[in-house]
Amino acid sequence: MTSFDAARRIILDKVAPAGVERVQLLDAVGRIIAADFAAPCDMPRWDNSAMDGYAVRSADCTPGATLTVTDYIPAGVSSDEAVRSGCAARIMTGAPIPSGADAVVPFEETEEGAGTVKLLHQVRMRDHIRFRGEDVATGETVVARGTLIAPPQVSLLASFAAVLVPVYRKVRVAILSTGDELVELGTAPEKSEIINSNTLAVAAAVKLCGAEPVIIGIARDNRESHLALLSEGLKADVLITSAGVSAGDRDLVRETLAELGVEEMFWKIGIKPGGPTAFSLKGGVPVFSLPGNPVSTMITFEEFVRPALLKMMGHTKVLRRTVRGYLQDEVRKKPGKLNFLRVRVTIKDGRYLASTSGDQNTGILKTMLRANALALLPADRTEFRAGDEVDLQILDPTLEMEE
Ligand code: AMP
Ligand code: MG
Repeated sequence: MTSFDAARRIILDKVAPAGVERVQLLDAVGRIIAADFAAPCDMPRWDNSAMDGYAVRSADCTPGATLTVTDYIPAGVSSDEAVRSGCAARIMTGAPIPSGADAVVPFEETEEGAGTVKLLHQVRMRDHIRFRGEDVATGETVVARGTLIAPPQVSLLASFAAVLVPVYRKVRVAILSTGDELVELGTAPEKSEIINSNTLAVAAAVKLCGAEPVIIGIARDNRESHLALLSEGLKADVLITSAGVSAGDRDLVRETLAELGVEEMFWKIGIKPGGPTAFSLKGGVPVFSLPGNPVSTMITFEEFVRPALLKMMGHTKVLRRTVRGYLQDEVRKKPGKLNFLRVRVTIKDGRYLASTSGDQNTGILKTMLRANALALLPADRTEFRAGDEVDLQILDPTLEMEE
């Protein structure tokens, strides 16, 4: 039996970024840039006005001085007429500073006459000018490789005319369920049949990682069906199977993968739920064989598949935020395995308080819905009292808000 930490380490050791593609700027949002982006020019590209007002020569500008307005420079226009001594150019925000001028006086600090402007206050050289290169200088790395593309990066890349952006490729994730009892959503199940919810839950989780789900379908509990669908699944970047990985007579996933030349790295992890999970490799394609129980499928995806997919798409922060918190209930468990307790966390006075979300049986799905975190109960311990400190993996990114 592989420990939780070892299982994660093996997986993260074996997977690597899948490759790079150049995509349109907006398609890069939520993805990781794969190369440093160095500024191709200064930003701003020219000295420009930070205010609507008058471009002046500061030496002329004693308080109370009146200047002759000789030019008008709206945004988008550049004037080649120099501002001469005793003169001012009416200028709008963003317009290039004309030669001769070394300061801008905002409208609020002037009194406008007919063809003239009176200055009410002291004016200093450089006032209200945004200087060329003051934001970014040519050659400066402004978005480093490994950065997540969010609106500020989009704004900057767009202003530097980056039409295409190199990002780590989205991985294609084949999803395959196994079992004779399964029917697809949209088909009415007979008695003893159940709807294949795992494929959809896994596909949903894959999408939330920013990867692309490829639904392969249901492998029936016989060798031929497994061979056909598993081979199909191995054509993707990653293969995820659910069910058929325990020790039942009809659990064919592992033996069929072996027949297809897939090398198993481990089977069975010291965790509950999710123990009978296998991880294998076929060349560079990682194969995750998750248990079929929907709660186990989701938790093992969360713990093992999500970090791997994120790493393959260039993320360096691949694990959920883990905090120390306090159990609010008495909990008992068997020794020997790390348990994931589905909990509801609230934050009170800066402390994370975790109450169990209800029945922890793996057959109970609704306590998974109510949970916003998983409490990690260490393998060696058996009894926990209210107030005991535990690690909490936060599943809900909005939790930080005080409740
Ligand atoms: P197995 O590992 O094949 O014994 O399946 C374990 C449990 O998970 C059984 O109760 C299955 O009915 C259930 N299960 C397996 N596959 C799925 C699936 N795709 N969707 C929902 N439940 C499933
Ligand atoms: Mg089965």
